[in-house]
Amino acid sequence: MTHLSILREVFGYDAFRGPQQAIIDHVSAGGDALVLMPTGGGKSLCYQVPAIARQRAGHGVSVVVSPLIALMHDQVGALHEAGVEAAFLNSTLSGEEAAQVEQRLRRGEITLLYAAPERVTTPRFLAQLDSLHERGQLALFAIDEAHCVSQWGHDFRPEYRQLTVLHERYAGVPRIALTATADALTRADIVERLQLEDAQQFVSSFDRPNIRYTIVEKKDATTQLLRFIEGEHAGEAGVVYCQSRRKVEDIAQTLADAGLNALPYHAGLHAAVRQRHQDRFLREDGIVMVATIAFGMGIDKPDVRFVAHVDMPKNIEGYYQETGRAGRDGLPADAWMAYGLQDVVNQRRMIDESPAGEDFKQVMVGKLDALLALAEATDCRRVRLLGYFGEVYGSQPSAAGPPQGGHGPLGGQRGHEVPSVGATCGNCDNCLNPPEVWDGTEAARKLLSTVYRVQQQSGISFGAGHIIDILRGKQTDKVAQFGHASLSTFGLGAALGEAQLRGVLRQLIATGALAVNPQAFNTLQLTEASRAVLRGEVPVMLRESVSAPAGRRTRRDRSAPKAPAAVAAALGAEAQARFEALRAWRAEVAREHNLPAYVIFHDATLAAIAALAPQTLDDLQGVSGIGASKLEKYGAQVLQVCGGEV
Ligand code: ADP
Ligand code: ZN
Repeated sequence: MTHLSILREVFGYDAFRGPQQAIIDHVSAGGDALVLMPTGGGKSLCYQVPAIARQRAGHGVSVVVSPLIALMHDQVGALHEAGVEAAFLNSTLSGEEAAQVEQRLRRGEITLLYAAPERVTTPRFLAQLDSLHERGQLALFAIDEAHCVSQWGHDFRPEYRQLTVLHERYAGVPRIALTATADALTRADIVERLQLEDAQQFVSSFDRPNIRYTIVEKKDATTQLLRFIEGEHAGEAGVVYCQSRRKVEDIAQTLADAGLNALPYHAGLHAAVRQRHQDRFLREDGIVMVATIAFGMGIDKPDVRFVAHVDMPKNIEGYYQETGRAGRDGLPADAWMAYGLQDVVNQRRMIDESPAGEDFKQVMVGKLDALLALAEATDCRRVRLLGYFGEVYGSQPSAAGPPQGGHGPLGGQRGHEVPSVGATCGNCDNCLNPPEVWDGTEAARKLLSTVYRVQQQSGISFGAGHIIDILRGKQTDKVAQFGHASLSTFGLGAALGEAQLRGVLRQLIATGALAVNPQAFNTLQLTEASRAVLRGEVPVMLRESVSAPAGRRTRRDRSAPKAPAAVAAALGAEAQARFEALRAWRAEVAREHNLPAYVIFHDATLAAIAALAPQTLDDLQGVSGIGASKLEKYGAQVLQVCGGEV
């Protein structure tokens, strides 16, 4: 049986997406793979189809390692709906339930077993795997959320480090590691930590074309947020990310007071409350979850219409992962962030105050800078985001391996990996509504030449504060100590405020025309790219809203066209009625099965059915999302709901 026929029969989809087919063929034939694919790209099928194929070929069970304990129940439920034998083992099971699963495992009744990493590496579990292995009944290891193995990722789980035991103990069993995090450093770390040197790497495009990126200057974040949700996403499901528990509580309260269906979620809440809120978010329509980053990893709710950040995340990986939770279903969705200078200060302080070693802090500072550059960009956000992951917008990366050379934040030339200058996506704030910019070229030249002169004169480099003091003509102790008042640029920037100069500075750092050396007290250093700016060959354009000289008004226009609200918008009146009836039916079934509605059928599937007005089971055959098992289970009911014959 081919993999394509498994896809059609079991999952009801007619074609593989992107590199799915190549990955599945490779793994199914016994190869190791590292899969980098954005959220919503379809990673699950990359191990589920090989698991089914290998099971049918007599190779036994596939073990899926996942940190997402809270979601295993739904994942297994979704497989059951598709008629696949699956089970999970984690701390939520009673001893008796776990023993039952183990028994089924021994009897070879399970195709996919989901397990938490700490469970997989226990002697008891390994002994079971040993026995399966001896009988040739260990088909595959899938390591989901593989970035958890890396401390450079944003969800480091020390237990993941122990997973090398799988390779060492069961060398012949193929492994597939999957993640949606793809910066070069994390990727290299995954390969090393999981000993995947010989695995084939499959790198997809990370673009999420249906997500619209917007970053606004923070004034009153809560009010701005409320306006955004009410204006563009009334009644729709979304996630609002905050840095602190307190802010989560405050904002959830404010939104609830304004009549929104908002719930808080953070690690300080009781586990039972957290679980209840998560369940409601997954099962009900139109809930806004206000959360810390404790919420969301692996949330596979497909119809999240927006992800908002009222505080800046730590780095682009985090931002991309979090915003990626919007619009998994491929329909229009928003990624909205309010960003202010205070965010920069807070994040810097958190790095400074962390007990981590200098090397680690240096990496963190570099990553933060890259995010700042994104926030302040006046050009296409998407081009920059993808550039950060080593991808040139509009060009497909090779499926065979990572992009060559020093891409990513540690490539040694931050800011240079955005080669598609001038490219536009047409679906981010800067493309839709180009920001007003002011010409900071002169200020930039003065700044760079000051950096140059102090180094010439004193033989050492200085940090941003001192350079700005010199430009503003301030008589500080340090200025006196080093005699910097005699420099020709002393006081040359007095007309500009400190904020403007910092804006120039950040922009220079962002574009790589100036480097911060974290190993030498964050001193500023000229780079190759400085020269062109110094000579005035490269204009430095600054976002007016962030760094406008005092007195100039900033433009605040958020009149970008609104995304069409629902998947059913294109349906005629009768089909709309069928769609609503199907949704109501689905909600009931989901409640009965204690599963999220989308596990039964996606909105898109219901919309397709509604448009079709099916009369017979034959009509339903071939609708995307209806596999053999669901057709048998629900076909008759669906026809009835649609008013057809049974
Ligand atoms: P990821 O884990 O990469 O975030 P998922 O595996 O959850 O993504 O897949 C995202 C959505 O896309 C799911 O709803 C899934 O059913 C759907 N999907 C995946 N592959 C296909 C395909 N080949 N055809 C149609 N839908 C697909
Ligand atoms: Zn754009």
